[in-house]
Amino acid sequence: MRKPRIVVLGAGYGGLMTVTRLQKQISGEAEIILINKNDYHYETTWLHEASAGTMHHDKVRYDIKSVINRSKVHFMETTVEDIKTDENKVITTDGEVEYDYLVIALGAEPETFGIKGLKEYAFSITSIRSARHIREHLDYQFATYSQEQEKKDERLTIVVGGAGFTGIEFLGELGNRIPELCHEYDIDPSKVRIVCVEAAPMILPGFDPELVKYARAKLEKKGVEFRIGTPIKEATEDGIFIAINEEEVEEIKASTVVWAAGVRGSNLIEKAGFENMRARVKVEKDLRAPGHDNVFIVGDCSLMINEEINRPYPPTAQIAMQQGEVCARNIAALVKGKHDLETFVPDLKGTVCSLGEDDAIGLVFGKKLMGSSAAFMKKVIDNRALYMIGGASLVFKKGKFKFF
Ligand code: FAD
Ligand code: NAD
Repeated sequence: MRKPRIVVLGAGYGGLMTVTRLQKQISGEAEIILINKNDYHYETTWLHEASAGTMHHDKVRYDIKSVINRSKVHFMETTVEDIKTDENKVITTDGEVEYDYLVIALGAEPETFGIKGLKEYAFSITSIRSARHIREHLDYQFATYSQEQEKKDERLTIVVGGAGFTGIEFLGELGNRIPELCHEYDIDPSKVRIVCVEAAPMILPGFDPELVKYARAKLEKKGVEFRIGTPIKEATEDGIFIAINEEEVEEIKASTVVWAAGVRGSNLIEKAGFENMRARVKVEKDLRAPGHDNVFIVGDCSLMINEEINRPYPPTAQIAMQQGEVCARNIAALVKGKHDLETFVPDLKGTVCSLGEDDAIGLVFGKKLMGSSAAFMKKVIDNRALYMIGGASLVFKKGKFKFF
């Protein structure tokens, strides 16, 4: 009799947690296939560092095969193009793969809200490739500025769209990187302009006001200019337009625009025909897609409502990893013929937002942290994520140990 086949799409936090737990819980009762578009996993939560150039992109990624048990998991490096739930199969660039159980863990894509020009003219922090592209673009602007006859200052203007956690963490890294670039290319630092444009009336909307005040002051000290309550309306070849009020718009000329103003799930969720909100599926309590008894969705493609505030939980690595553990247990139970599945309940331990390698703000177990203690905690969290997937050896290879 053919063994049931479990196919996991995406080797990010959710997918790798599912697979590394499944390989321990299943011993021969099922076949496990992991599909990812690259042969490496990248720490999405460190991509702002690779984008700014404060960390090399190779430090941010590791070989998927180094964390899976190859006698139990078959890895396929290919791109998923479609999911046909009515035929229990996945279409990839290299052919079709049938499944009995499917886990969709394909992560997020930038949400541009249909704003004109963003797709064409703005960067976004989404993958190793995009991070490398941003870093090289920044280097190029600084290198060529010093050679120009008629120096155009907009070459040294960087706009960051959105002051959510991604935007703020990227600004923190830029604050450390720009002085290095100025030194390297003999550029007067006063020529550089870093502008963060936020639509809401404050940065990090909804986060603790005391911590937000600290973050803003620290970033302003590093040269960041905040434009608050002024949504980006359009991106062009020359920069962006922001709305000052209902009638007035202002142009900010910039050679670099990084859009960090929100995410949506994978476009494959919409293509496959799941009922969704911004490409995220409101999953059942056991993480299955409604109406699909053999399809689980974890990470940024899933949506769960926090009933205490009646709003969706934010898409985070913290939740994706916890979902991966429960998803693995639930699939193992189904394979073993059990039908009583576990309910997923997020266990939120807090949030830490870095402001560069040496500074951060955070709320951890209800306690406020700022400065070096928060930066220390951030590294502990980053190392813990490595440990959860690849154990101590991965922490030794890729971990962050510069604590003071
Ligand atoms: P991911 O970890 O992004 O993995 C998705 C995987 O699917 C990738 O390997 C990708 O290559 C693969 N894939 C995508 N499409 C295809 C395809 N068509 N075919 C094959 N493979 C495909 N969250 C926190 O909790 N704490 C933080 O400190 C934090 N910091 C962040 C910092 C930044 C800069 C960003 C951008 C996000 C941060 N987040 C943080 C959010 C967190 O990274 C995401 O919530 C998390 O990565 C979601 O996990 P996932 O498994 O759904 O997707
Ligand atoms: P976000 O949705 O959290 O923040 C986006 C920001 O962009 C918001 O402040 C929003 O008001 C602003 N915005 C929206 N439209 C705009 C416009 N037209 N012009 C200017 N500003 C606009 O998105 P994110 O920061 O990309 O984060 C995505 C997810 O990843 C979130 O769930 C976040 O919690 C998580 N994350 C967590 C961390 C951390 O824990 N340290 C770090 C990064 C990301």
